[in-house]
Amino acid sequence: MKALLVDKDDTGLSARVQEVADDRLPEGEVTVAVRHSTLNYKDGLCLTGKGGLVRSYPHVPGIDFSGVVEESSDPRWRPGDEVILTGWRVGESRWGGYAERARVKADWLVRVPQGLSLRQAMAVGTAGLTAMLAILRLEGQGLRPGAGPVLVTGATGGVGSVAVALLAATGHEVAAVTGREGAEDYLRDLGATRIVARTEIADTVPKPLESETWAGCIDAVGGPMLARVLGQLRYGASVAAVGNAGGVQVPASVIPFLLRGVNLLGIESVHAPLPLRDAAWARVARDLPMAKLDAMTRPATLEDLPDLGQAILRGGVQGRVVVDL
Ligand code: NAP
Repeated sequence: MKALLVDKDDTGLSARVQEVADDRLPEGEVTVAVRHSTLNYKDGLCLTGKGGLVRSYPHVPGIDFSGVVEESSDPRWRPGDEVILTGWRVGESRWGGYAERARVKADWLVRVPQGLSLRQAMAVGTAGLTAMLAILRLEGQGLRPGAGPVLVTGATGGVGSVAVALLAATGHEVAAVTGREGAEDYLRDLGATRIVARTEIADTVPKPLESETWAGCIDAVGGPMLARVLGQLRYGASVAAVGNAGGVQVPASVIPFLLRGVNLLGIESVHAPLPLRDAAWARVARDLPMAKLDAMTRPATLEDLPDLGQAILRGGVQGRVVVDL
């Protein structure tokens, strides 16, 4: 099979597309012919050897894939079934989706929901699934369309783009934070009605409370921006903390929790239980306008990935990337 193999030696890290024998695939009950994979922030880390996610080389990255079951020793899956894999540390602690074949545990696979193609499933990928998980949590806290503007940080990124499109399509007023020059038309086309410059909200301020502005927030950035958002939430509103593209230390005050009853919700997609995944994928298939998904997605090959991995870590990839195998 053709695979993107990342290897490490004394001279450093290399990433090359090459032929790899199928018998090097890891143990698992289900072998999948991979049709598409994608690029997430975490793939950038695995492609470049950063973040300590990959412990053993040579390695095939790719934290997501979609494809068709070739062989299965588990009765839940049969040859020909169309499946999605996201998370479970596939592509990090074991070989992932940047190859023509993958072998995984039967428990980890999800059936492609009705209304989504294998390609669209990877245009969504972990990034889009996580945006949906964040929306489900915000809804669980009572967020409803009409409640007021919902802020999305890191808005031109993968999580952010899908979050903007999903929120707008389900009737929310969406404000999008971006640091990318010239991204306004892109974000307005996805459904944002207000653009907030990153510089307006990137740094902490001495006052722990600012005016009550946001009815909710999906935050892909973390760091000082998350602290700032907490002080701008309306009474009782919630922020779903998804990412750390802007830093891991959150210099927050406890005051917004005590005086405004705001909520900080943690979003975790890697080990999300199967019923939640199925529910999230079904909502994505129902709510995400496919024309908007197409507008935020660009194609790539395995050969493109080493460069794309570096680019996504610099915040240099807009929207979503689908890797065609
Ligand atoms: P991405 O496509 O690179 O998007 C991140 C966006 O954040 C960038 O496009 C940029 O948006 C903004 N950004 C980048 N550097 C920044 C900085 N220094 N300060 C402020 N904003 C910055 O990545 P992604 O795949 O959407 O993932 C986003 C984050 O979510 C990552 O931290 C990722 O690890 C995390 N994540 C977590 C889960 C989970 O299960 N919790 C799942 C998926 C992803 P603008 O240019 O528009 O400002």
